Amino acid sequence: MQKIEHIGLAVKDLSVSIPLFEKLLNTFCYKTEKVESEQVNTAFFQVGETKLELLESTQAGGTIDKYIERRGEGIHHIAFEVADIEAEMKRLQSEGFILLNDQPKQGADNKLVCFLHPKSSNGVLVELCQEKK
Ligand code: ZN
Repeated sequence: MQKIEHIGLAVKDLSVSIPLFEKLLNTFCYKTEKVESEQVNTAFFQVGETKLELLESTQAGGTIDKYIERRGEGIHHIAFEVADIEAEMKRLQSEGFILLNDQPKQGADNKLVCFLHPKSSNGVLVELCQEKK
């Protein structure tokens, strides 16, 4: 793995959280994007080499909504950048980690992504991401 590409934060309402994080980080949100496949609206902030990705459910009862119901707003996942996502998926699977998707899928910010089940990684939801070429 090459670096922490971004940290995903679950929020209830982007219209509240975007200005909050703009104040906190003293920088502007440079991009918002809806990811249909994940039922989320995302908002990105650049912090040095790493990004923060705010995640809001696009519909009641979506994954992020359920997460917030159980655990409240806060850190949702850590995303690691990898050079070859398919090779990394195979490696992790052979080490006993549980992949939440068999094939890389389209994520936000022009990435191919794959998530690992948190029960195989100490309760941490891990995302692998590879820049689409
Ligand atoms: Zn992410």
